[in-house]
Formats: sequence, C-alpha cells, structure tokens
Amino acid sequence: MSAQQTEWQEVRCKMEPIKREQVIAKYLSRTLDTEAVEEFEGHYLGCDECFDELRVSEHLATELRSSKLAWKQAEGVSVLQFRAAATLTHSAAELEELRREVLEQSDSRVIIDLGRVTKIDSAGLGQLMSCYSHLVRNQGTLRIVNAMPDVRKVMDMTGISSLIGTFQDEQEALNSFRN
Ligand SMILES: [Zn+2]
Repeated sequence: MSAQQTEWQEVRCKMEPIKREQVIAKYLSRTLDTEAVEEFEGHYLGCDECFDELRVSEHLATELRSSKLAWKQAEGVSVLQFRAAATLTHSAAELEELRREVLEQSDSRVIIDLGRVTKIDSAGLGQLMSCYSHLVRNQGTLRIVNAMPDVRKVMDMTGISSLIGTFQDEQEALNSFRN
C-alpha cells in the first residue's frame, strides 16, 4: 500500500480541534486571509468533521445575530420587537434581520414595534416597505407601533406612515385589526 493511499484512507481529520475552531470562527467572521479561505474551503467539503463543525458554528452564529429581534403573540397577531436599542439604517445588521424575520414569518398579520429604534433612513424605510409589500401580497397586513418622535417624523415626511398603518401603541394597533 503506497503512502498516498494511506493518506487517502485516513478517516479522521488531521486538524487539531482548537485550530479547527479558530479557523472556523475566522472563516465565519470573514477575517481569514484569502489563501487560508481557499485552503479551508478545499478541505472542509471533503472532511466530515470540519463540515459538521462548520454547520454547527454557522447555525450558532445565525442564532446570535437573530437575537436582536423577538416575536411575541398578542390577541392572535404576531408582534416583532427589538430586544435592545437599534437603528434601521443603511449597513445596520438589523435591517437584513428585519427583512428575514418578516419574510420567514408564516402569519400574515404582523405588528412591528419600533419602540427601540432610534434612527431610520431611506434604507430602513425601504425595508419596511418591502415587509409591507410582502405581507400584502400574502393577503396580510402590517402595522407599525411605538415609533419614536424622530423616526415618526421621517415616516410622516415620506408618506410611509399614511401607507402603512402607524399607531401610537400596540393596543391601538390590535384594536384596528378588529375593525
Ligand atoms: Zn477537517
């Protein structure tokens, strides 16, 4: 049996677990240099251990990222809230997250609580519009509640608040669903 064959038949990955962990963390945060990325990508597709580890880490990273938003149910309506202060501006991670959460939501009646959103720009307004369009296409509705004065001002100026039902608080929005 040649040396090459022995290497090919080697089942276990040669990468040390700690090293693997570091490479994967850097790979997911895109801080690995180009050469190392190519090397790792060339390796993990053929390595069950690295492939599984990458999948698990990727999943955890997604969970962490999505922890900025949380759903709750109120009178049969799905309410999306921000867990902490957030901005809906160009390049803010919350923007992509908001879109993903709303587009993946199976309920068609949705309230977005902007109570913790301190700033919004055209990118944020665009994202609210695309959430709205998505829900309307699926015979649903979107209501916005708790917008802070500055955010509300931008929404009023651009006419978004007259298009998407915008309410002072959650209860007011919930009442509107009954009318
Ligand atoms: Zn490996």
